[in-house]
Amino acid sequence: MELQSILLPGVDPKRPLIISGPCSAETEEQVMTTAKALSNIGVKIFRAGVWKPRTKPGGFEGVGTEALTWLKRVKSELGMYTAVEVANAKHVREALANDVDILWIGARTTANPFSVQEIADALKETDIPVLIKNPVNPDLDLWIGAIERIYNAGIRRIGAIHRGFSSSDKKVYRNLPQWHIPIELHRQLPTLPIICDPSHIGGKRELIASISQQAMDLNFDGLIIESHCTPDKAWSDASQQITPEVLQLILDTLVIRDTNQTTENLTVLRRQIDLLDNDLLELLAKRMRVSQEIGTYKKEHNMPILQAQRYDEILKNRINQAEKMGMSGDFMKTVLMAIHEESVRQQMMIMK
Ligand code: PEP
Ligand code: MN
Repeated sequence: MELQSILLPGVDPKRPLIISGPCSAETEEQVMTTAKALSNIGVKIFRAGVWKPRTKPGGFEGVGTEALTWLKRVKSELGMYTAVEVANAKHVREALANDVDILWIGARTTANPFSVQEIADALKETDIPVLIKNPVNPDLDLWIGAIERIYNAGIRRIGAIHRGFSSSDKKVYRNLPQWHIPIELHRQLPTLPIICDPSHIGGKRELIASISQQAMDLNFDGLIIESHCTPDKAWSDASQQITPEVLQLILDTLVIRDTNQTTENLTVLRRQIDLLDNDLLELLAKRMRVSQEIGTYKKEHNMPILQAQRYDEILKNRINQAEKMGMSGDFMKTVLMAIHEESVRQQMMIMK
């Protein structure tokens, strides 16, 4: 892909590129108050959802076209660039007719190739920058497919937004980051800028600072962060929005490590190891929880803890699988035996 590296003229090329604004444009006053405060802290690109894809009907579905005239005021009075989400050809036409500067495709839309193609067709003959959020499901090819559809329409200023992936596991994150997916996207499309959306990954404002820092440590190019003049009163995504003042605090405390290429690569790789180890630990803990449930079942049904045949099968299958994946069978045996030992210990506690 031959992409243009500068998304917008006049925006500082230094990391991180910052896009901020409310989840949704609600009223002219909310838009102008938020935008003014953001402009005062140096934010150049203002985001606002005008058409909102809601999971269930009855949620706030956005103000619609009327809000585009408020965004025009943000441009003319504050000199900011404006960005909105588009989900179909009509949205594209209306956004373009109202001089919106950047379009983004939402996660639910990216997941649907028909919708992405409709948007791509509406974009032919234009050269507006387009940001493409990852699809809700963790499918890298679907994400790349959407990027290719937009590229094939002739758009050359393209960016990706990593907003995490839907999961039933909502203990910490609203959408699991699965950092290896955007990292693999970068490996396959090294010239594509990637922007992290800590607001939708975290789902709560307390997580925004740490997710933003992780994204910077992984060399992401920018951040898109939801902000609102009165976050608690927001009509959508209230719990994850922050005031422009808090945004400034978060941006001021971000550590941007700009070292030379080799140590930078090493830092990124080490961060990847840290994240993968974290995934491993979470997976192990999950496996132990299931094992405990099995323990409870065995207790209720008067079964012994050790089921030798089952354990044998597990060992054989996993060792085989590990060897196919390029790891030594002995290594896998050691790992499995250690896991099994801890599982048995946990089941014994339940039996007691
Ligand atoms: C949004 O940016 O407000 C939004 C709806 O995000 P996503 O498409 O990532 O859910
Ligand atoms: Mn939102």
